[in-house]
Amino acid sequence: MDNKQMLMIPGPTPVPEKVLLAMAKHPMGHRSGAFSKVIAELTSGLKWLHQTQNDVLMLTVSGTGAMEAGIINFLSPGDRVLVGNNGKFGERWAKLSKAFGLAVEEITAEWGKALNPADFQAKLEADTEKTIKAVILTHSETSTGVLNDLETINRAVKAHGEALMIVDAVTSLGATSVPIDDWGLDVVASGSQKGYMIPPGLGFVAVSAKAWKAYETAKLPRFYLDLKKYKKATDEDSSPFTPPVNLMYGLQASLQMMQAEGLDNIFTRHQRHTEATRAAMKALGLPLFAPDNAASPAITAVAPVTVEAEKIRSTMNKQFDIALAGGQDHLKGKIFRIGHLGFVCDRDILSCVGALESTLIKLGHSGVTPGAGVAAAARILSQ
Ligand SMILES: *Cc1c(COP(=O)(O)O)cnc(C)c1O
Repeated sequence: MDNKQMLMIPGPTPVPEKVLLAMAKHPMGHRSGAFSKVIAELTSGLKWLHQTQNDVLMLTVSGTGAMEAGIINFLSPGDRVLVGNNGKFGERWAKLSKAFGLAVEEITAEWGKALNPADFQAKLEADTEKTIKAVILTHSETSTGVLNDLETINRAVKAHGEALMIVDAVTSLGATSVPIDDWGLDVVASGSQKGYMIPPGLGFVAVSAKAWKAYETAKLPRFYLDLKKYKKATDEDSSPFTPPVNLMYGLQASLQMMQAEGLDNIFTRHQRHTEATRAAMKALGLPLFAPDNAASPAITAVAPVTVEAEKIRSTMNKQFDIALAGGQDHLKGKIFRIGHLGFVCDRDILSCVGALESTLIKLGHSGVTPGAGVAAAARILSQ
């Protein structure tokens, strides 16, 4: 049906009407006093969302641009870095780091499994010369629906003392707690089309005092993504280049919505949706790709056996106007992924599970008891 599309992919995520309307205005001059007020409000809202007093800088980039800024500002060619790689986005960190000439040591886990903190701990403890300059990883691995144990890995990084902790929090920020100051995370990158409930186009980087110290000696070339430029401007409620003014009106509205809901409520909502979705898949006899103890709060990956993942996706799309994500790389056709990140309510989960049940019956998936998935999800959502 025209204009009825429901996005249940891990980005772009659904955008509230309040945000869309906030963006439907003439842009104002980005050097005006009125826009300075907008930037000031956004900066304080972003610090709230990131649970930090550190700088949180806004860049006109997608999430990958924020990741790149997180590397080139704090490291030098040849620097030894440990990169966690257990999916598409961990792999992206490794490729990005190699592209800039870093000495990358990858710590891998099979796609669908979490990174093992002990692997990081062993490398960091063995490094008595303190040659490891950074540990770089993806918190919520969107390609597989796995949440890596950032808290434990970060503890090993803190014990090492020298290395920076650089994190892709693109699908964990705004979905689960990423307490930057409590944990002492140095560089945290995210993007607007995920937990922020606004369209793509803005990237965010949170930077600790320790990372700024590393900036002083970092030798990789930088210009547009030179974060000191953004810090200087942000400290004066300004921006170094022309920012996406209308997207920032949207961010103003979405941050207001998030603050009205409250961080704990936002995290609880994502937790419930994750549990309800996973319970429904189990009740429908659909194998989950990520284990229960490492489930992403943003995305549930499912590996169907008796029906083809791509057939499920196309029926969900054609008949129910629900967009699900497919598998990436070698997982193409093997899994489908349900996004429950950002502007998602209980009704969306029930609609998606109900539509999925109907799809499975239509496609001849054996062993589905009609209603079993909805019942399992409803049981969790009624708590
Ligand atoms: C979406 C996403 C990114 C950023 O991708 P862009 O297309 O550059 O916005 C990075 N990491 C993770 C884990 C993501 O889910």
